[in-house]
Amino acid sequence: MTRQIHVKGIPIGGGAPVSVQSMTTTDTCDVSATLAQIQRLADAGCDIVRLAVPTNAAAEAVRAIAERSPLPIVADIHFNYALALKCAENGAAKLRINPGNIGKPEYVKLVADACRERGIPIRIGVNAGSLEKELLAKYGSPTPEALAESAIGHVRLLEDAGFGDIAVSMKSSDVVTTVAAYEAFAASFDYPLHVGITEAGSGQRGIIKAAMGIGSLLLRGIGDTIRVSLTGDPVPEVTAAIEILETAGLRKIRGLHLISCPTCGRCKVNLEALIADFNAGVTEEVRKRGLTVAIMGCEVNGPGEAREADYGLAAGPVRATLFAKGEVIGKVEIADAVQALIKLI
Ligand code: SF4
Repeated sequence: MTRQIHVKGIPIGGGAPVSVQSMTTTDTCDVSATLAQIQRLADAGCDIVRLAVPTNAAAEAVRAIAERSPLPIVADIHFNYALALKCAENGAAKLRINPGNIGKPEYVKLVADACRERGIPIRIGVNAGSLEKELLAKYGSPTPEALAESAIGHVRLLEDAGFGDIAVSMKSSDVVTTVAAYEAFAASFDYPLHVGITEAGSGQRGIIKAAMGIGSLLLRGIGDTIRVSLTGDPVPEVTAAIEILETAGLRKIRGLHLISCPTCGRCKVNLEALIADFNAGVTEEVRKRGLTVAIMGCEVNGPGEAREADYGLAAGPVRATLFAKGEVIGKVEIADAVQALIKLI
Protein backbone atom coordinates (compact mmCIF):
# COMPACT_ATOMS: atom_id res chain seq x y z
CA MET A 1 0.00 0.00 0.00
CA THR A 2 1.18 3.53 -0.71
CA ARG A 3 1.90 6.03 2.04
CA GLN A 4 -0.66 8.77 2.62
CA ILE A 5 -0.41 12.48 1.91
CA HIS A 6 -3.05 15.14 2.53
CA VAL A 7 -4.15 17.89 0.21
CA LYS A 8 -5.93 20.28 2.56
CA GLY A 9 -7.84 17.51 4.31
CA ILE A 10 -8.21 15.22 1.30
CA PRO A 11 -6.15 12.05 1.84
CA ILE A 12 -4.31 10.56 -1.14
CA GLY A 13 -2.88 7.06 -0.86
CA GLY A 14 -2.72 4.72 2.09
CA GLY A 15 -6.04 3.11 1.19
CA ALA A 16 -7.99 6.39 0.97
CA PRO A 17 -10.75 6.55 -1.67
CA VAL A 18 -9.29 7.41 -5.07
CA SER A 19 -9.84 11.14 -5.59
CA VAL A 20 -10.68 12.95 -8.82
CA GLN A 21 -8.64 15.87 -10.09
CA SER A 22 -8.98 18.28 -12.97
CA MET A 23 -7.29 21.43 -14.20
CA THR A 24 -8.76 24.81 -15.03
CA THR A 25 -8.48 26.12 -18.59
CA THR A 26 -9.02 29.77 -17.67
CA ASP A 27 -6.28 32.38 -17.32
CA THR A 28 -5.37 32.04 -13.63
CA CYS A 29 -5.06 35.84 -13.42
CA ASP A 30 -8.77 36.07 -14.21
CA VAL A 31 -9.86 35.24 -10.68
CA SER A 32 -13.63 35.36 -11.19
CA ALA A 33 -13.59 33.23 -14.37
CA THR A 34 -11.29 30.72 -12.66
CA LEU A 35 -13.48 30.55 -9.56
CA ALA A 36 -16.59 30.10 -11.73
CA GLN A 37 -14.93 27.17 -13.51
CA ILE A 38 -13.78 25.66 -10.21
CA GLN A 39 -17.37 25.86 -8.92
CA ARG A 40 -18.58 23.96 -12.02
CA LEU A 41 -15.89 21.33 -11.43
CA ALA A 42 -16.89 21.04 -7.77
CA ASP A 43 -20.55 20.66 -8.73
CA ALA A 44 -19.55 17.83 -11.11
CA GLY A 45 -17.80 15.96 -8.28
CA CYS A 46 -14.17 17.06 -8.64
CA ASP A 47 -12.11 16.73 -5.43
CA ILE A 48 -8.95 18.71 -6.20
CA VAL A 49 -8.24 21.32 -8.88
CA ARG A 50 -4.96 22.41 -10.47
CA LEU A 51 -4.18 25.83 -11.88
CA ALA A 52 -1.37 26.84 -14.22
CA VAL A 53 0.96 29.34 -12.57
CA PRO A 54 3.28 30.60 -15.30
CA THR A 55 3.82 34.17 -14.01
CA ASN A 56 4.17 36.24 -10.89
CA ALA A 57 0.71 37.72 -11.51
CA ALA A 58 -0.76 34.20 -11.60
CA ALA A 59 1.00 33.34 -8.32
CA GLU A 60 -0.55 36.49 -6.81
CA ALA A 61 -3.99 35.46 -8.09
CA VAL A 62 -3.61 32.09 -6.31
CA ARG A 63 -4.21 33.89 -2.99
CA ALA A 64 -7.64 35.26 -3.98
CA ILE A 65 -8.59 31.97 -5.63
CA ALA A 66 -7.47 29.77 -2.72
CA GLU A 67 -9.40 31.94 -0.23
CA ARG A 68 -12.69 31.45 -2.06
CA SER A 69 -12.28 28.13 -3.85
CA PRO A 70 -14.60 25.29 -2.82
CA LEU A 71 -11.79 22.84 -3.76
CA PRO A 72 -8.15 22.58 -2.66
CA ILE A 73 -5.86 24.29 -5.16
CA VAL A 74 -2.77 22.71 -6.74
CA ALA A 75 -0.35 25.24 -8.20
CA ASP A 76 1.28 23.93 -11.38
CA ILE A 77 4.74 25.44 -11.77
CA HIS A 78 7.60 24.81 -14.13
CA PHE A 79 11.23 25.80 -13.49
CA ASN A 80 10.66 28.83 -11.25
CA TYR A 81 11.27 28.19 -7.56
CA ALA A 82 10.22 31.75 -6.65
CA LEU A 83 6.74 31.11 -8.04
CA ALA A 84 6.58 27.90 -5.99
CA LEU A 85 7.48 29.80 -2.81
CA LYS A 86 4.87 32.45 -3.56
CA CYS A 87 2.14 29.87 -4.18
CA ALA A 88 3.00 28.03 -0.95
CA GLU A 89 2.68 31.37 0.86
CA ASN A 90 -0.56 32.24 -0.97
CA GLY A 91 -2.60 29.23 0.09
CA ALA A 92 -1.92 26.51 -2.49
CA ALA A 93 -2.76 23.14 -0.94
CA LYS A 94 -0.22 21.31 -3.11
CA LEU A 95 2.45 22.13 -5.66
CA ARG A 96 3.16 20.36 -8.90
CA ILE A 97 6.80 21.03 -9.67
CA ASN A 98 9.70 18.88 -10.78
CA PRO A 99 12.69 19.57 -8.52
CA GLY A 100 15.12 18.59 -11.28
CA ASN A 101 13.89 21.60 -13.26
CA ILE A 102 14.31 24.11 -10.44
CA GLY A 103 18.07 24.47 -10.80
CA LYS A 104 20.29 24.79 -7.74
CA PRO A 105 19.90 22.34 -4.82
CA GLU A 106 19.53 25.31 -2.45
CA TYR A 107 16.43 26.40 -4.37
CA VAL A 108 14.99 22.88 -4.11
CA LYS A 109 15.67 23.03 -0.36
CA LEU A 110 13.87 26.39 -0.07
CA VAL A 111 10.78 24.98 -1.79
CA ALA A 112 10.88 21.76 0.24
CA ASP A 113 11.21 23.73 3.50
CA ALA A 114 8.36 26.10 2.59
CA CYS A 115 6.11 23.11 1.82
CA ARG A 116 7.12 21.21 4.95
CA GLU A 117 6.37 24.21 7.21
CA ARG A 118 2.86 24.45 5.80
CA GLY A 119 2.07 20.75 5.33
CA ILE A 120 1.89 21.12 1.56
CA PRO A 121 2.73 18.04 -0.54
CA ILE A 122 4.55 18.20 -3.86
CA ARG A 123 3.62 16.23 -6.94
CA ILE A 124 6.42 15.27 -9.25
CA GLY A 125 4.83 15.22 -12.69
CA VAL A 126 6.94 13.52 -15.32
CA ASN A 127 5.62 14.01 -18.84
CA ALA A 128 6.88 12.20 -21.96
CA GLY A 129 6.77 15.50 -23.83
CA SER A 130 9.30 17.19 -21.56
CA LEU A 131 11.65 14.39 -20.59
CA GLU A 132 15.26 15.28 -19.76
CA LYS A 133 17.58 15.33 -22.79
CA GLU A 134 20.00 12.88 -21.16
CA LEU A 135 17.24 10.30 -20.69
CA LEU A 136 16.04 10.73 -24.27
CA ALA A 137 19.64 10.20 -25.43
CA LYS A 138 20.02 7.16 -23.18
CA TYR A 139 16.74 5.43 -24.12
CA GLY A 140 16.18 6.87 -27.61
CA SER A 141 12.55 7.81 -26.87
CA PRO A 142 10.26 8.33 -23.85
CA THR A 143 10.14 4.65 -22.91
CA PRO A 144 8.56 3.39 -19.67
CA GLU A 145 12.06 2.98 -18.22
CA ALA A 146 12.95 6.55 -19.16
CA LEU A 147 9.77 7.93 -17.53
CA ALA A 148 10.31 5.91 -14.35
CA GLU A 149 13.99 6.88 -14.18
CA SER A 150 13.08 10.54 -14.56
CA ALA A 151 10.55 10.27 -11.72
CA ILE A 152 13.08 8.51 -9.49
CA GLY A 153 15.65 11.25 -10.17
CA HIS A 154 13.18 13.96 -9.08
CA VAL A 155 12.16 11.93 -6.02
CA ARG A 156 15.81 11.62 -4.95
CA LEU A 157 16.26 15.40 -5.11
CA LEU A 158 13.33 15.96 -2.74
CA GLU A 159 14.47 13.15 -0.47
CA ASP A 160 17.94 14.75 -0.38
CA ALA A 161 16.21 17.93 0.78
CA GLY A 162 14.62 15.89 3.58
CA PHE A 163 11.16 15.99 1.99
CA GLY A 164 8.92 12.92 1.62
CA ASP A 165 5.41 14.36 1.29
CA ILE A 166 5.39 13.42 -2.38
CA ALA A 167 2.97 12.21 -5.04
CA VAL A 168 4.25 11.08 -8.43
CA SER A 169 2.89 10.90 -11.96
CA MET A 170 4.53 9.59 -15.14
CA LYS A 171 2.30 10.40 -18.07
CA SER A 172 2.58 9.74 -21.76
CA SER A 173 -0.06 10.05 -24.45
CA ASP A 174 0.68 6.38 -25.20
CA VAL A 175 -1.39 4.08 -22.97
CA VAL A 176 0.92 1.05 -23.04
CA THR A 177 3.98 3.18 -22.19
CA THR A 178 2.19 4.94 -19.36
CA VAL A 179 0.92 1.75 -17.75
CA ALA A 180 4.36 0.13 -17.91
CA ALA A 181 6.04 3.23 -16.42
CA TYR A 182 3.67 3.28 -13.42
CA GLU A 183 4.12 -0.46 -12.91
CA ALA A 184 7.91 -0.08 -12.91
CA PHE A 185 7.81 2.79 -10.40
CA ALA A 186 5.19 1.19 -8.14
CA ALA A 187 7.29 -1.97 -7.84
CA SER A 188 9.96 -0.06 -5.88
CA PHE A 189 8.34 2.98 -4.24
CA ASP A 190 5.37 3.57 -1.95
CA TYR A 191 4.74 7.20 -2.86
CA PRO A 192 1.09 7.78 -3.77
CA LEU A 193 0.48 7.86 -7.52
CA HIS A 194 -1.48 10.40 -9.51
CA VAL A 195 -2.43 8.54 -12.67
CA GLY A 196 -3.61 9.70 -16.05
CA ILE A 197 -2.95 9.61 -19.77
CA THR A 198 -1.66 12.98 -20.84
CA GLU A 199 -2.83 14.74 -23.99
CA ALA A 200 -5.37 11.98 -24.56
CA GLY A 201 -7.16 14.13 -27.13
CA SER A 202 -10.88 14.74 -27.13
CA GLY A 203 -14.22 13.02 -27.57
CA GLN A 204 -14.71 9.28 -27.58
CA ARG A 205 -11.09 8.49 -28.50
CA GLY A 206 -9.77 10.55 -25.60
CA ILE A 207 -12.15 8.96 -23.11
CA ILE A 208 -11.28 5.46 -24.33
CA LYS A 209 -7.55 6.18 -23.96
CA ALA A 210 -8.07 7.55 -20.46
CA ALA A 211 -10.33 4.67 -19.44
CA MET A 212 -7.91 2.07 -20.83
CA GLY A 213 -4.85 3.58 -19.16
CA ILE A 214 -6.33 4.66 -15.84
CA GLY A 215 -8.62 1.63 -15.68
CA SER A 216 -5.79 -0.83 -16.33
CA LEU A 217 -3.74 0.69 -13.53
CA LEU A 218 -6.62 0.87 -11.07
CA LEU A 219 -7.45 -2.79 -11.66
CA ARG A 220 -3.80 -3.62 -10.86
CA GLY A 221 -4.21 -1.72 -7.58
CA ILE A 222 -2.11 1.22 -8.85
CA GLY A 223 -3.43 4.78 -8.56
CA ASP A 224 -4.42 6.95 -5.63
CA THR A 225 -5.79 9.98 -7.45
CA ILE A 226 -6.75 10.30 -11.10
CA ARG A 227 -7.05 12.93 -13.78
CA VAL A 228 -8.64 12.42 -17.17
CA SER A 229 -7.06 14.86 -19.66
CA LEU A 230 -9.37 15.95 -22.45
CA THR A 231 -9.13 18.89 -24.82
CA GLY A 232 -11.84 21.44 -24.09
CA ASP A 233 -14.05 22.24 -21.13
CA PRO A 234 -12.73 20.39 -18.06
CA VAL A 235 -16.10 19.31 -16.61
CA PRO A 236 -16.34 16.22 -18.89
CA GLU A 237 -12.96 15.15 -17.45
CA VAL A 238 -14.57 14.88 -14.04
CA THR A 239 -17.61 13.02 -15.33
CA ALA A 240 -15.37 10.54 -17.16
CA ALA A 241 -13.07 10.10 -14.14
CA ILE A 242 -16.01 9.35 -11.84
CA GLU A 243 -17.40 6.85 -14.34
CA ILE A 244 -13.99 5.15 -14.56
CA LEU A 245 -13.96 4.81 -10.76
CA GLU A 246 -17.53 3.49 -10.77
CA THR A 247 -16.72 0.99 -13.52
CA ALA A 248 -13.60 -0.17 -11.68
CA GLY A 249 -15.79 -0.86 -8.66
CA LEU A 250 -14.05 1.84 -6.62
CA ARG A 251 -17.11 4.06 -6.19
CA LYS A 252 -20.77 3.34 -5.80
CA ILE A 253 -22.54 4.12 -9.05
CA ARG A 254 -24.24 7.52 -8.88
CA GLY A 255 -27.76 7.90 -10.17
CA LEU A 256 -29.46 5.26 -12.23
CA HIS A 257 -27.41 2.36 -13.60
CA LEU A 258 -29.23 1.14 -16.69
CA ILE A 259 -28.31 -2.27 -18.08
CA SER A 260 -29.54 -3.06 -21.56
CA CYS A 261 -28.51 -5.60 -24.14
CA PRO A 262 -27.18 -4.73 -27.62
CA THR A 263 -30.12 -6.71 -29.14
CA CYS A 264 -29.69 -9.38 -31.81
CA GLY A 265 -31.81 -11.44 -34.17
CA ARG A 266 -33.76 -12.88 -31.22
CA CYS A 267 -35.09 -9.47 -30.21
CA LYS A 268 -38.65 -8.93 -31.45
CA VAL A 269 -39.28 -5.54 -29.85
CA ASN A 270 -37.91 -2.05 -30.46
CA LEU A 271 -35.62 -2.01 -27.43
CA GLU A 272 -34.20 1.43 -28.22
CA ALA A 273 -37.72 2.86 -28.11
CA LEU A 274 -38.47 1.11 -24.81
CA ILE A 275 -35.29 2.58 -23.29
CA ALA A 276 -36.09 6.04 -24.66
CA ASP A 277 -39.58 5.80 -23.12
CA PHE A 278 -38.09 4.69 -19.82
CA ASN A 279 -35.54 7.54 -19.79
CA ALA A 280 -38.28 10.03 -20.65
CA GLY A 281 -40.64 8.72 -18.00
CA VAL A 282 -38.40 8.14 -15.02
CA THR A 283 -38.33 10.94 -12.43
CA GLU A 284 -35.28 12.74 -11.02
CA GLU A 285 -36.19 11.38 -7.60
CA VAL A 286 -35.89 7.81 -8.93
CA ARG A 287 -32.60 8.64 -10.71
CA LYS A 288 -31.08 9.73 -7.39
CA ARG A 289 -31.85 6.42 -5.67
CA GLY A 290 -28.75 4.64 -7.04
CA LEU A 291 -30.78 1.78 -8.54
CA THR A 292 -29.73 -0.76 -11.15
CA VAL A 293 -32.43 -1.32 -13.76
CA ALA A 294 -32.18 -3.89 -16.57
CA ILE A 295 -34.15 -3.56 -19.81
CA MET A 296 -33.42 -6.61 -21.94
CA GLY A 297 -34.42 -7.63 -25.44
CA CYS A 298 -35.46 -11.25 -25.05
CA GLU A 299 -36.02 -14.11 -22.68
CA VAL A 300 -32.62 -15.75 -23.24
CA ASN A 301 -30.29 -13.50 -21.23
CA GLY A 302 -32.99 -11.08 -20.15
CA PRO A 303 -34.33 -12.86 -17.06
CA GLY A 304 -30.83 -13.42 -15.65
CA GLU A 305 -29.84 -9.75 -15.90
CA ALA A 306 -33.27 -8.54 -14.79
CA ARG A 307 -33.18 -10.80 -11.74
CA GLU A 308 -29.74 -9.48 -10.70
CA ALA A 309 -30.85 -5.85 -11.05
CA ASP A 310 -32.99 -3.97 -8.51
CA TYR A 311 -35.75 -3.85 -11.11
CA GLY A 312 -35.91 -5.34 -14.57
CA LEU A 313 -37.84 -6.07 -17.68
CA ALA A 314 -37.19 -8.97 -20.06
CA ALA A 315 -39.10 -8.45 -23.29
CA GLY A 316 -40.75 -11.30 -25.13
CA PRO A 317 -42.33 -10.95 -28.56
CA VAL A 318 -45.73 -10.03 -27.11
CA ARG A 319 -45.32 -9.63 -23.38
CA ALA A 320 -42.53 -8.64 -21.02
CA THR A 321 -41.67 -10.21 -17.70
CA LEU A 322 -41.17 -7.75 -14.86
CA PHE A 323 -38.75 -8.32 -11.99
CA ALA A 324 -38.26 -6.61 -8.63
CA LYS A 325 -35.44 -7.46 -6.24
CA GLY A 326 -34.77 -10.80 -7.91
CA GLU A 327 -38.40 -11.97 -8.04
CA VAL A 328 -40.75 -12.30 -11.01
CA ILE A 329 -43.62 -9.86 -10.50
CA GLY A 330 -45.66 -10.83 -13.55
CA LYS A 331 -46.11 -10.37 -17.28
CA VAL A 332 -47.48 -7.32 -19.06
CA GLU A 333 -48.17 -6.41 -22.68
CA ILE A 334 -45.13 -4.85 -24.39
CA ALA A 335 -47.08 -1.64 -25.01
CA ASP A 336 -47.61 -1.23 -21.24
CA ALA A 337 -44.26 -2.63 -20.07
CA VAL A 338 -42.28 0.56 -19.56
CA GLN A 339 -45.03 2.31 -17.62
CA ALA A 340 -45.52 -0.83 -15.51
CA LEU A 341 -41.78 -0.93 -14.78
CA ILE A 342 -41.71 2.76 -13.79
CA LYS A 343 -44.77 2.23 -11.55
CA LEU A 344 -43.09 -0.76 -9.96
CA ILE A 345 -39.94 1.25 -9.20
S1 SF4 B 1 -30.76 -10.50 -24.36
FE1 SF4 B 1 -31.67 -11.59 -26.04
S2 SF4 B 1 -32.05 -10.02 -27.58
FE2 SF4 B 1 -30.62 -9.15 -26.14
S3 SF4 B 1 -28.65 -9.59 -27.10
FE3 SF4 B 1 -29.06 -11.22 -25.62
S4 SF4 B 1 -29.99 -12.85 -26.83
FE4 SF4 B 1 -30.10 -10.97 -28.06
